[in-house]
Amino acid sequence: MKKAPIIALDGYSACGKSTLAKELAQALGLIYVDSGAMYRGVTLYFLQNHIDPKPSPEATSALASIHLAFRKSLDGAANELWMNGIRIEDEIRGPTVSSMVSPVAAIPEVRRKLIEEQRLMGAQGGLVMDGRDIGTHVFPDADVKIFMTADPLIRAKRRTEELRMKGEHWRLEAVLQNLAERDHIDTTRKDQPLRQADDAVVLDNSNLTRKEQLEWALRLVEQRLRVGD
Ligand code: C5P
Repeated sequence: MKKAPIIALDGYSACGKSTLAKELAQALGLIYVDSGAMYRGVTLYFLQNHIDPKPSPEATSALASIHLAFRKSLDGAANELWMNGIRIEDEIRGPTVSSMVSPVAAIPEVRRKLIEEQRLMGAQGGLVMDGRDIGTHVFPDADVKIFMTADPLIRAKRRTEELRMKGEHWRLEAVLQNLAERDHIDTTRKDQPLRQADDAVVLDNSNLTRKEQLEWALRLVEQRLRVGD
């Protein structure tokens, strides 16, 4: 029997990757994995334990003490990240973690650990994973690869509004700057930099609604899975 599909969704920060990935997973009955949340979890641990966001023996040995797991939310609607038995879903989305996550994600040992865990999650197929290196490195044989992009100002406006809804008031310029910094670090780091896989299809959602982008992605998946039969 054919293995359940793997759908890789990569792209710049705040392009709406997780929104689309969640909706795709739900529509197709697949598991959704937010690989960025895992990098955010490690970053939270580094912050809590005063570990510098750069390669060091201390950073490497800390990794053995970090146990990450996704669990269903109480209402069953979302996958939430837990670290060492504690729910950390809210803390990892805050500004402190956002401003330190890309340097942490550039540490080769951090990437090695998380990529290994991500590959284990996908060993049986049947998931949609979003991130920066999913189609290029984590699952180079993914059945469908989407590379998402959008106008930086539109991304920053959407993210500012999203934060405002959660009660966090960021200035638009600060969000714009955080996204630019993360994109720069993510595209220029040595290990698994963010780039479009050769066989990925680009989705620029600057002028698309959520419904339109989901329909576009579902059409692509259907087409790709039919060809792969
Ligand atoms: O997806 P999200 O914006 O939450 O990811 C947070 C950060 O984690 C990114 O800016 C990037 O530095 C890092 N990341 C990564 N590789 C992934 C997913 C996220 O380096 N597969």
